Amino acid sequence: MKSRKHQKQVEKALKTALKRDRARTNVLSISELGLLEMSRQRQEESLLSQLASTCPICSGHGHVKSPLAVSIELQRNLTTLLKQADIEKKPFVPKIVISPAVMQRLRTEDAKILSELQDTFNTKLTFVAELHRHPESYAILDSETGQVLHSSGGAKNA
Ligand SMILES: [Zn+2]
Repeated sequence: MKSRKHQKQVEKALKTALKRDRARTNVLSISELGLLEMSRQRQEESLLSQLASTCPICSGHGHVKSPLAVSIELQRNLTTLLKQADIEKKPFVPKIVISPAVMQRLRTEDAKILSELQDTFNTKLTFVAELHRHPESYAILDSETGQVLHSSGGAKNA
């Protein structure tokens, strides 16, 4: 490819091909050594947006509340509802819907706290783990009426 004419043809063919490239490119002429230099705008972001979408679990934050954090929040809201029912002298048997990760925590580290809560308010707590529930999401229902008394957390199932 020594001939200047052939080099020009290569340059032209490359430039034509690059017109279809959405990234900004700049092609310099072929040097005496036969090297072609070109620059191309970085397109990692748009490539990322084509190949990936925002995480539906954390909505792109990169973090979700830990089972510990969700458990603490849940206990606080549950206690409030139990106290309220107690004051109003209403029978209240809560059904709590949670993610499997939170269920795991409630069954182990927090089992004692929950059984104490049950004894204190003389009630029975029922927990239901939903496989696809967002890890931050939970709902407290009245198991008699099915009424949702509190629900929070998570982009989905909130
Ligand atoms: Zn995520």
